Amino acid sequence: MTGRFALMIDPVAADEHRSDFADTFKQVDAAAPALSVGELSTQRGDGVFESIGVVDGHAQEVVPHLERLAHSARLCDLPAPNLPQWREAIERAASQVGGGESVIKLILSRGVEHGPTPTAWVTAAPATDFAEVRKNGVRVVTLDRGYDLDAAERAPWLLLGAKTLSYAVNMAALREARRRGADDAIFLSNDGFVLEAPTASLILRFGDSFITPAPNGGILHGTTQLSVYEHLEARGFEVGYDRIPASHLTAADGAWLVSSVRLAAPITAIDGTEIPLNSPLTTELNTYLLSPRT
Ligand code: PLP
Repeated sequence: MTGRFALMIDPVAADEHRSDFADTFKQVDAAAPALSVGELSTQRGDGVFESIGVVDGHAQEVVPHLERLAHSARLCDLPAPNLPQWREAIERAASQVGGGESVIKLILSRGVEHGPTPTAWVTAAPATDFAEVRKNGVRVVTLDRGYDLDAAERAPWLLLGAKTLSYAVNMAALREARRRGADDAIFLSNDGFVLEAPTASLILRFGDSFITPAPNGGILHGTTQLSVYEHLEARGFEVGYDRIPASHLTAADGAWLVSSVRLAAPITAIDGTEIPLNSPLTTELNTYLLSPRT
């Protein structure tokens, strides 16, 4: 990676068709202040984002990330992002990173208070080195998320299926997990079902079947989980979505936290119960996730 990169984007209406958005981008110094103090992203966490993994200059799974950005924007009543414009910004950011693993972030905020437009920007930076975690895994504890499995449908203003900038709760859960001697957490609904991790999706293995909590609006539908499922299906495994009772967790024959930058981190223990590591499969999954994907 040649360094950090930041590009401010002047949002263009979703239905504006152009072949070039260069005049809507402004590269800024990634180390210098760039946002107004009136920004609602910083004042209220009012906006949406995406984190995209980049491997040797190739941004992974761009279309699913852009589709989820648009979905999150819709749930938050933000103007629909112009996807070709964002794709061009991603290409520009990806062209600035060197070899190895990086992360590109897309941020779409409600903008400055009483301002005319949302604020939008893209950044690129070196990724944390997750080699150790991908190999040796993480110990997790379960934590109550505080709402039942049907809360998303009953109370859409909770924005449960949107990837919003309000990650303070997710970060607090990670701190609580560490206080309890674990590396990460799995959220449970208060009616006893498995949800997701604070920054990852969860995939469980039972025999030759793989299962993940159904993305019914209460959790994010992970782009990495979709990729992993594609690979597992091609390998002849059975994959599925379901309501998973928390009591099933410790009976799993394998478990992974999966996300765009960390990729597949095997879970070695849940609430102190050891889970089989599945090392060859984990290596295979991470090799697949590091290969160029669109
Ligand atoms: N769930 C949550 C709450 C997340 O924050 C993330 C990623 O950041 C995921 C799931 C996994 O999504 P993806 O695989 O698209 O990175």
